[in-house]
Amino acid sequence: ADDDKTYEFQAETRMLLDIVAKSLYSEKEVFVRELISNASDAIEKARYLAIQGTELDSSEATMKIHITTDKYSKTLTIQDSGIGMTKEELMDNLGTIARSGSKAFIQQLQEGGGADPQSIIGQFGVGFYSAFMVADKVEVYTKSRLPGSTGYCWSSDGCGKYTIEECSEVEPGTKIVCHLKVADREFADDQTIKDIIKKYSSFVGSPIEVNGEQANNIQPIWLMDPKEVSPAQHEEFYRYVGSSYDKPRFTLHYCTDAPINLRCVLYVPEGKPGLFDLNREGVGGVALYCRRVLIMNKAENILPKWLRFLKGVVDSEDIPLNLSRELLQDSALIRRLRTVIQNRMIRFLFDKSRKDPESYAKFFADYGIFIKEGILSSQEQVEKEEIAKLLRYESSGKPAEEAVTLPEYISRMAENQKDIYYLAAPSRELAESSPYFEALKKRNVEVLFCYESYDEVVLMQLQQFSSRKIVSVEKELRQDKEDVNFDNAEGGLRRTEANELMNWLKTVLAGRCWTVKATPRLETHPCVVTVEEMGAARHFVKTQFTQVS
Ligand code: ADP
Ligand code: MG
Repeated sequence: ADDDKTYEFQAETRMLLDIVAKSLYSEKEVFVRELISNASDAIEKARYLAIQGTELDSSEATMKIHITTDKYSKTLTIQDSGIGMTKEELMDNLGTIARSGSKAFIQQLQEGGGADPQSIIGQFGVGFYSAFMVADKVEVYTKSRLPGSTGYCWSSDGCGKYTIEECSEVEPGTKIVCHLKVADREFADDQTIKDIIKKYSSFVGSPIEVNGEQANNIQPIWLMDPKEVSPAQHEEFYRYVGSSYDKPRFTLHYCTDAPINLRCVLYVPEGKPGLFDLNREGVGGVALYCRRVLIMNKAENILPKWLRFLKGVVDSEDIPLNLSRELLQDSALIRRLRTVIQNRMIRFLFDKSRKDPESYAKFFADYGIFIKEGILSSQEQVEKEEIAKLLRYESSGKPAEEAVTLPEYISRMAENQKDIYYLAAPSRELAESSPYFEALKKRNVEVLFCYESYDEVVLMQLQQFSSRKIVSVEKELRQDKEDVNFDNAEGGLRRTEANELMNWLKTVLAGRCWTVKATPRLETHPCVVTVEEMGAARHFVKTQFTQVS
């Protein structure tokens, strides 16, 4: 009979639990924050459903997080009047890893090979499972707020199995009881818990009571005057809203009433984006609020996809509260918000690049790939060029440390130069010694060097900037109309000899090349191979092969 109530954790969850439980992580206290943030999420979900007109057990007035500590029984209990869970939800949410943060954690561990789990826990937090850092048994009493629901008790020692039993005495919402390990009994001390709440959870939108006393002050930072918010407050808020443990590297606090009511705080994380952030499609890190009510935690469409690395809050009084999430996905209003935010963010980053070029360079090294994605995914030329202001490339006209913007490049162009030239190559060294570059170098024309395999695709998509065509050096060489002056070429071939050579090459390479031409542009290289487009792809294919062998 016991087997009916006993279940096994999914393999990935077991792996996570194993790491978490054995972890000597010094900031164990983060589990408090993880459990409180779950309680707060559950309350926000209930609040949102109530606003939508869904009937719920018990009223809005009781939406609180109650924490109780008991030193004698070494327990810490966190109770919320949030949405609660059904039996299926219990199994799905607490038995498997669906959570983005935990997934990323596992992924990083697998990618990183020997990477230090402590530091990774610090980076992500591991959600509910972090309770097992300090508890040798965790009980979850829960009852869905939807009328007619049954109460359950979920219980586990974090070692592979858990049980679920029906339970009649459960209040709507969720109560989590952590039975603390002896070594971690400090978390049954109310002052310790209050201090932790102050550190991590002061922005939680619902009252948190510790043994009956309120422990947080609810202060929506984004509604404050930007001048009144200190960097320390931003740092704290960033950690709360972004579920992060690092700092913001850039902060944009923007309030406007026209063309749309908007209060937003947007952060660029200090940390570099992981592979996970790059692959993550559509999931934004920004919460959408309307007059302080959380509409969606990870609002998908409120930012363009390429800005998904931002964290923060967007609040707009213009969003009707009763709008369904489905409608929110793509209403004209959301599209307008998205455009306003994107333009403001581009302007903000562009200003940064001028006022603080050094931090911008670091930002570009870490997040440039998102900017390039923005250009690729944008549908309109105006928008593409707007985003392209944020691009930085090395240039033949500047030393490697000085990256160049497209407007700067244009400002240096000679009067008779019509196009913007770029050369895609795996490194500066290869770019500078490239036969494709030699031709323009001789004419003293500045060339942008691109080192990433996708740069060429980005520039081809962009096509032009400020009405100047963006052209690959290789293409330029190929379309060369200039004729060779054979008579002056000292020690060179004469016209008849050159023609003979070209005819011979054409026969030998028949079917493999389009044509063979003589060019006056090369000096130190006897010949070059050119292709119409995506010439650089060749280099990258080659480097990949060399790496393999
Ligand atoms: P995350 O909060 O990122 O989703 P967690 O591991 O913290 O990941 O929690 C997993 C899931 O368990 C949550 O998404 C939620 O569905 C459910 N859950 C956890 N705590 C609660 C709670 N107090 N009330 C309702 N559901 C909860
Ligand atoms: Mg959570």
